Amino acid sequence: MSNAAFSSWPTSLWKSDSLTHSFEHAPPKVNCDVCIVGAGYSGLWTAIQLHVIDPSKKIVIVEAVQPGFGASGRNGGWCSAFLPMSLDAIAKASSRAEAIAMQQAMYDSVRDIGLFITRHNIECGWAAGGTLQSATNSAHLARLQSHVDSYRAYGFGDEHITLLSASQANQRINAQGTLGATYSPDCAAVHPGQLVDGLVRQCLANDVTIYGDTRVIDISPHCVTAQTKDHLTQIHATHIVRATEGYTPTIKTSRRETVPIYSYMIATEPLPSDVWNSIGWASRETFSDARNMVIYAQRTADNRIAFGGRGAPYRFGSTVDSKFDISSAVHNKITSTMHSLFPSTQDALITHRWGGPLGITRDWFSGVTLNHNTGLATLGGYVGDGVAASYLGAKTLAHLLCDTQEPVTRLPWAQHVSPSWEPEPLRWLGINALLKVPELSDLREARNRSSSWLLRLLKHFTR
Ligand SMILES: Cc1cc2nc3c(=O)[nH]c(=O)nc-3n(C[C@H](O)[C@H](O)[C@H](O)COP(=O)(O)OP(=O)(O)OC[C@H]3O[C@@H](n4cnc5c(N)ncnc54)[C@H](O)[C@@H]3O)c2cc1C
Repeated sequence: MSNAAFSSWPTSLWKSDSLTHSFEHAPPKVNCDVCIVGAGYSGLWTAIQLHVIDPSKKIVIVEAVQPGFGASGRNGGWCSAFLPMSLDAIAKASSRAEAIAMQQAMYDSVRDIGLFITRHNIECGWAAGGTLQSATNSAHLARLQSHVDSYRAYGFGDEHITLLSASQANQRINAQGTLGATYSPDCAAVHPGQLVDGLVRQCLANDVTIYGDTRVIDISPHCVTAQTKDHLTQIHATHIVRATEGYTPTIKTSRRETVPIYSYMIATEPLPSDVWNSIGWASRETFSDARNMVIYAQRTADNRIAFGGRGAPYRFGSTVDSKFDISSAVHNKITSTMHSLFPSTQDALITHRWGGPLGITRDWFSGVTLNHNTGLATLGGYVGDGVAASYLGAKTLAHLLCDTQEPVTRLPWAQHVSPSWEPEPLRWLGINALLKVPELSDLREARNRSSSWLLRLLKHFTR
């Protein structure tokens, strides 16, 4: 059942002490009410939420490798209320009131995931310390100010996002060159792999069947065809949920629904107390700064820094391949960014490097869809903000599948169908040209030169 996308596990920090389950592949014939393709957060939460609404449903999850193989077992562990689309973009697609409802639902989701973790005793290093985004030049400061202004315009006050002075920011996290920051309490740091493990246990407790090492090769109305190492499997179901995020283009019928863009991470060894004395970071806030090239970090429960960033090119034909899980160029950039922001980490050993694909839709808008005629459903396109969004996506989808008419089914992403990506080579040319913009604009901003026209160009194509 070989496919390069699923050929080897990444060398992720989160894999080393979690993701302990190993599931058998599916038998040749399976019948169920709901078949979920993909055992990441989206698939697992969908099964959990469906069981809450209708415990009589027979639910089967089919996974190409094992639960948590994808982004859910590799991410930065930010369980944040961020959405990939701006409030303005949501308001434009629906209304101002719905944009506010969507953001509020994300705030509630972060809280509810924390409550779920407590209720089910999931040990996953959950630390509800909020998130800090720092500024190290005047363009960053202006961007943070305008970000706060846009939240104020939608009625969200200091209780959700607030500006900090340099000294207030440094009291939380002492990053080099900080001129100011924003702080939002609506975020928790989490061990992503242990969260997967906890969700898997909950699924099993609810009698959800999980098949591993079973790669879906075709999805059609009420029928999934999958390949195991020794036979083809057919799964017949009333509803089929595609929860494959960055791997979606590996399925024949879904080649242009999302593109895979890789994000990469490093982890240090556990750092000694003198390093932590110089950095602070006592509340384990998640950390980023306002540069255009995304970076993100957390202090782990075992006192490492796990630091991530983007910057890899898009691969022709939306190729996903385990060999892309490591990129020396991006890993080296992430390491030097960490050293420049936290000079006291200079001598720390980097013990892990890994990466994985995110799923991006053509209009940068996440979606939850259900076709009542065919029974086919999808969720995803979180563009790298999927840890909490997958919970809300799954809740939205579970209510759509059970036709409850609950308010969550009227959120702006419910039944939002993104356009398909362009065919190649246009897709490759366009995406790789746009991927240059963040780096170029960061270089200009670091020299106090304006990058507003470049960013307008990026916004035009991504929102
Ligand atoms: C390096 C990195 C850092 C990130 N950091 C953050 C962060 O800090 N905060 C945040 O909010 N988001 C982050 N993200 C994004 C977040 O991890 C994802 O949005 C989220 O995990 C998506 O969950 P999912 O279940 O939809 O997809 P995935 O976790 O990717 O799961 C999809 C599953 O489907 C399986 N699959 C795919 N194709 C098939 C097939 N044909 N047959 C059967 N199974 C199949 C895969 O093996 C996989 O297990 C990050 C992502 C990466 C890669």
